[in-house]
Amino acid sequence: MGLFDWIKKDNKAESDIEKEEPDTKDTDEISGTDEQEKASDTKDTDEASDTNEPYEVSGTDEQTEDEASIAETEISGEEETAPPEDSAEPEDKKGGIFKRLVGGLAKTRNSISESLSSVFAANHIDDDFYDELEETLIMADMGVSTTMNILDELRESVKKKHIKEPADCKDLLIELIKEQMSLKENAYEYENKKSVVMIIGVNGVGKTTSIGKLAAQFRKNGKKVIMAAADTFRAAAIEQLTEWAHRSQADIISQKEGADPSAVVYDALQAAKARNTDILLIDTAGRLHNKKNLMDELGKMNRIIEREYPDAYKETLIVLDGTTGQNALEQAKQFKQVADIDGIILTKLDGTAKGGIAIAIHAELGVPVKYIGVGEGIDDLQKFNPESYVNAIFAEE
Ligand code: GDP
Repeated sequence: MGLFDWIKKDNKAESDIEKEEPDTKDTDEISGTDEQEKASDTKDTDEASDTNEPYEVSGTDEQTEDEASIAETEISGEEETAPPEDSAEPEDKKGGIFKRLVGGLAKTRNSISESLSSVFAANHIDDDFYDELEETLIMADMGVSTTMNILDELRESVKKKHIKEPADCKDLLIELIKEQMSLKENAYEYENKKSVVMIIGVNGVGKTTSIGKLAAQFRKNGKKVIMAAADTFRAAAIEQLTEWAHRSQADIISQKEGADPSAVVYDALQAAKARNTDILLIDTAGRLHNKKNLMDELGKMNRIIEREYPDAYKETLIVLDGTTGQNALEQAKQFKQVADIDGIILTKLDGTAKGGIAIAIHAELGVPVKYIGVGEGIDDLQKFNPESYVNAIFAEE
């Protein structure tokens, strides 16, 4: 079995891991139970700082399915003035953005740089040259079909431009990949509007961390940010998001573990409107074990957003763990069946030698990678820049 076949087989095996289980599972895990919805312990709201704009906390007995009590909502406030400490640190103290990107992608770069050098040091552009290049790109997890497409384009371009030297092919390859990954002009439009951003993805991919990092960036730019802890299935998720809200100095709207996620979203929308918030970041629970429930839950949240805040700019971002390679692509495909995804946050690229996955995901899904995570720190989330990304992996130092 050649490398090509082996990788195809391996990718298939990996992607099978996340396949959903049958619809027979207990659906309460996703949608919450009646009892959970009725839970009425009012949480202590002392944490709300004096700088919060007034926000009425009141409950009602006559609630519709998605207007559950806000009595249990916990509101934690932001300091209006100072930006988050970590991100206030001058850029040059920590190294420039590109330097940090290169550092974050070092594993990918190191793993392929030797074979790339040897490929481009060849004497002729022949079948062996293309075969070796193919192996190298697949090794970086660019995926079989993406690699094939890019190599087809490269072959064509080489012919058209009468390129004879393998070394000259390298720039061409870099250009082709950059073109594939270019972002539309309005990719970050939501940052400049009053927006509601749904963050979806399975547990452990870096959702909470990415929300924290995003909030810190927005706060640094003077935006008013609210986080909504709508992943109510794990107490730890709520605690962790609260911690990130403190770190990034954003507001947070949360309820008790087990509350109806849509009720949290409802409360957060009221708060966002009342406080004239710029960006509302909604953390959701995204388990893939039951597609119908996931779809119902996301659909319900979207309906509430549409009804309660029709003027808001809506953005849905999926968080994927870059270290899971082709499995991340498989997850994205499944989520794409239940949600309209506007962009991808690809995390943990510092922990993998397979940074080519960003290229594969972008090409195969037709959904742009908008942010990349290159470390655990509050500043380790970057806007995706195809030019820098491809240079950080492929270009000579
Ligand atoms: P969630 O379950 O999806 O909310 O995931 P978390 O935000 O809790 O993240 C899971 C783990 O991944 C935590 O230990 C994070 O610190 C870590 N993590 C998240 N993003 C990155 C990243 O870009 N790089 C690295 N190295 N770790 C990350």
